Amino acid sequence: MEGSLFNIQRFSIHDGPGIRTTVFFKGCNLNCKWCHNPESIKKKNQLEFYPEKCIGCGACFQVCLYGAHYLNGEGDHRIDRSKCTGCLLCTKTCYANALIGVGQKVTVPYLLKSILEDKLYYENSNGGVTFSGGEVMLQLEFLIEILTKCRDFGIHTAVDTAGCVPWSYFEQILPMTDLFLYDVKAADSKRHKLLTGVENHLILENLRRLSEEGKDIIVRIPFIPGQNDDQISEIAELLKPLRIIKAEVMPYHKLGNSKYAALGIENKLLHTETPAEEMVQEAVEILRSYGIKADKT
Ligand code: SF4
Ligand code: SF4
Repeated sequence: MEGSLFNIQRFSIHDGPGIRTTVFFKGCNLNCKWCHNPESIKKKNQLEFYPEKCIGCGACFQVCLYGAHYLNGEGDHRIDRSKCTGCLLCTKTCYANALIGVGQKVTVPYLLKSILEDKLYYENSNGGVTFSGGEVMLQLEFLIEILTKCRDFGIHTAVDTAGCVPWSYFEQILPMTDLFLYDVKAADSKRHKLLTGVENHLILENLRRLSEEGKDIIVRIPFIPGQNDDQISEIAELLKPLRIIKAEVMPYHKLGNSKYAALGIENKLLHTETPAEEMVQEAVEILRSYGIKADKT
């Protein structure tokens, strides 16, 4: 069995306790306006194009079987994304590094070997492995298999999820998952749909059930000026009766901006600024005022 990933990040310190390896799954069933990993949304491989690096050698034009590379009226190199299949053949011909492939298929033994390379660091820091995305549970069989292997080797496991999957998916990974990093993006369902493309009833119901199961949960709240920064009190109301370790406020950042252009995806929040430190702290204080242990990342 193979899984579709877009990154394996070692020595990660923001995705759960201790030093961790974060494995990013490709493919998501939400489409958040602020996504800082836009390469995580589609499951298939994708092509990043950095025109400023292109030296105009023309090699990619010759190798592409689908005619996806073309010159526009001004003679600028462009890619017709509707023709690109994600075969990534052209990336192998580009010595200027203007074309970068995103996405890889990996087997469970390959991934396990990669995770085990840092086992000593996990043990010395109370760390482990975090499966993130994308939505990890859309590749459920692969996830179950790698979680089970990690459990066999005594590695602490965390699953980062947006929670928009049937509860039966959660049930299948509960025994092998030590910690859930659970995203809550808005309390109001209509707003949630506007921001992410889906309503939040299933997400909140799954969170409630997870809490009842007594699992360790860290709730993560992306904090996006002008989008959901007015939702913190309502989110706090939702979280108050739940049993969670803590809530983390994650301020919007613009690190993913260059990836949007390279992937040919529209960035809906191109002109949104990162929130001021005081705004983020205020959100943290609101959560704390409801008796919720809260922090910012
Ligand atoms: S990834 Fe494949 S289909 Fe897409 S532009 Fe490159 S060679 Fe053509
Ligand atoms: S192979 Fe690379 S450098 Fe050559 S034309 Fe294509 S993108 Fe530009």
